[in-house]
Amino acid sequence: MKLVFLHSSDTHGYLLPTDYQNDGEYNAPFGLSRVASAIKAEKAKWGAEHVVVTDAGDCLQGSPLAAYAHGSGDLKNLDRFTAAYNAVGYDVRCLGNHDFNFGQSYMANYVDNNQAPFVNCNILDAETHMPALGREYVILERSGVKIGVIGITTQYIPHWEAADRIKGLEFKSAFEQVNKLAKKLKPQVDVLAVLYHGGFESDIEDGHATEPHNGENEGYRILTEIPEVDVMLTGHQHRRLNVIKDGKPCVQPGYRGEAIAEVVLDLDKTEDGYKVKSAESTLIDTKDYDSDPELAQIVQPLDRATQKWL
Ligand SMILES: [Zn+2]
Repeated sequence: MKLVFLHSSDTHGYLLPTDYQNDGEYNAPFGLSRVASAIKAEKAKWGAEHVVVTDAGDCLQGSPLAAYAHGSGDLKNLDRFTAAYNAVGYDVRCLGNHDFNFGQSYMANYVDNNQAPFVNCNILDAETHMPALGREYVILERSGVKIGVIGITTQYIPHWEAADRIKGLEFKSAFEQVNKLAKKLKPQVDVLAVLYHGGFESDIEDGHATEPHNGENEGYRILTEIPEVDVMLTGHQHRRLNVIKDGKPCVQPGYRGEAIAEVVLDLDKTEDGYKVKSAESTLIDTKDYDSDPELAQIVQPLDRATQKWL
C-alpha cells in the first residue's frame, strides 16, 4: 500500500505566477495556481484514496495581492483569497508566523472559511490552555490506513510580532508539545506526520548546529528524539529540503509555491496495523505545470484590482 503526502508551504499570497514587477506578465516559475495543477496531476496519478494534501502556512502575507486584499479593508477580498486556497483541495493545514501579521480577527476569518481543518497544538488560549485556533491534530484515513497529523508553528512569534497582535495567546515549545502528543496519538494510528511551520536547527545528516538553538526551529530534535514521528512536513525557512534520515522523510518546498514536496511511503500490512517499509521523497517544481484555470478564475477580480492599485 502506497501512502502519498503532497505538501506546500510559504506560498505567501502568490496566487498567480507573477511577482507584480512586470505588469501583465504571468509566466513566473511559481504561484499557488501552479501548485494546484501539480497537486491535481499527482493526485490523479496515485489515486485520491492514497493521497493526503498538506500546507504549512505563511499564506496571508507577502505578495502585493496579499497586501491589497488586507489593505482594501473589504472582507470580500479576503473571501476570494481564501477561496483560492480552498480550490487547491487541502486535507489539513497549519498556521505560519506571518499569518499573524494582519491581526487575529483577519486570521480567524481566513481559518474559519477554510474547508480544510487547521492543526495547532502549541499556540494556546492563555486562559483556557486550549488551542487558540484549530485543533491539536487530525486523524485521516486512506484505504484503511490511519494517519495522524500533528500541527505546530514556530514558538518564536512573540520575538517578531507586535504585542496587540498576539494578545491572549500562549506559545509553547513545538518539541515539548509534539513529544507529549505523539505518545498519546501513535497507538491510535499507523503513520504519524508532523506538519510544522518551522524548520531544522541542525544539519539533518550530521547533526551539527546550523543556527542558534533558540527555539525558532526545533525540527532536528523532533526528528531525532521523538521516535513515534514518521514524516516531517515543514516550512518557514524557505529551504528546498528533501532528506531521508533513518527512513524518515524530511521535506520543505521552498517558497511562493515554486515546488511541492511529494513523500511516498510504502506500507506493509502486519498483525498490528500498517508499518512503513520504505520511504521516498521528491521536490516537484511547479514551473512545469500551467495555472489551474479554476483557481485563476477565482483570483482574477482580486488580481485586476491589485494591478490597478499598484
Ligand atoms: Zn515564510
